[in-house]
Amino acid sequence: MAAMRLSGGPDLPRFAPGEVWLVGAGPGDPALLTLLAAHALAKADVVVHDALVGPGILRLAREGAGIVHAGKRGGRPSARQPDITGTIIAEARRGKRVLRLKGGDPFVFGRGGEEAMALRRAGVPFRIVPGITAGIAGLAAAGIPATHRETNGALVLVTGHDATGATPGAINWRALACLPAIVFYMALRHLPEISRQLIAAGRPPEDRVALIARATLPDQQVVETTLARAVSDAAAAGIEPPVIIAIGANVGLRAAILGGGGGR
Ligand code: SAH
Repeated sequence: MAAMRLSGGPDLPRFAPGEVWLVGAGPGDPALLTLLAAHALAKADVVVHDALVGPGILRLAREGAGIVHAGKRGGRPSARQPDITGTIIAEARRGKRVLRLKGGDPFVFGRGGEEAMALRRAGVPFRIVPGITAGIAGLAAAGIPATHRETNGALVLVTGHDATGATPGAINWRALACLPAIVFYMALRHLPEISRQLIAAGRPPEDRVALIARATLPDQQVVETTLARAVSDAAAAGIEPPVIIAIGANVGLRAAILGGGGGR
């Protein structure tokens, strides 16, 4: 079949049998899928997806496509990475069009690099399709500029936990505290240590913090607070993962951007 053509849009590549597409599904709202991600959903024979990919997106899969949940969620039992990779390779070798669908961007804290390397080693043809990562989309959806000339000319993305679930021992808190704007992924559980370490490393206790839960989804929740109050305000709001934690003066621009409404 020829490449699909959208009226006035770009030519989209053919999803060939036996190929794996490693695709970012964006932060959650199906309207924030890329055209390539929507195309892949419409063509795939098998969709292997993470816990962060919700029903609104999976509904766009081709009728009759196999849907395989390969979810991982902090602390809970999950499909093991070698099993997931094995499934993807086996399905491709059976001649299926395999869509490996990950929340956000496949190469941002999604282990997409490992999967791509395994596919390369196995000799399975694959394509990598970027998605909008939650740490960028979540800020915009909450009315917080990722960068802004007056507040921050840099932004760092940090994971709040390592493979064992602990706060990464490799974080150099002094170095991190010097950066103007920080975005933590997978970090809600370690918020007490994160705020304590950043204050100990010289960050002011009144530094601005936003906790953004289920960004871009209809029940998106935003808690604006400070480093010193973040833990108690998060508990008071009953905030639950998935959450992005933004820290820095750029968070303080939110009121000026959203005005009195505070909405989306
Ligand atoms: N590859 C993904 C990140 C996977 S790690 C990406 O690029 O976005 C999982 C973490 O992503 C969650 O713990 C949370 O910190 C963040 N996350 C993903 N989707 C989110 C959403 N809709 N709202 C808030 N945080 C989200």
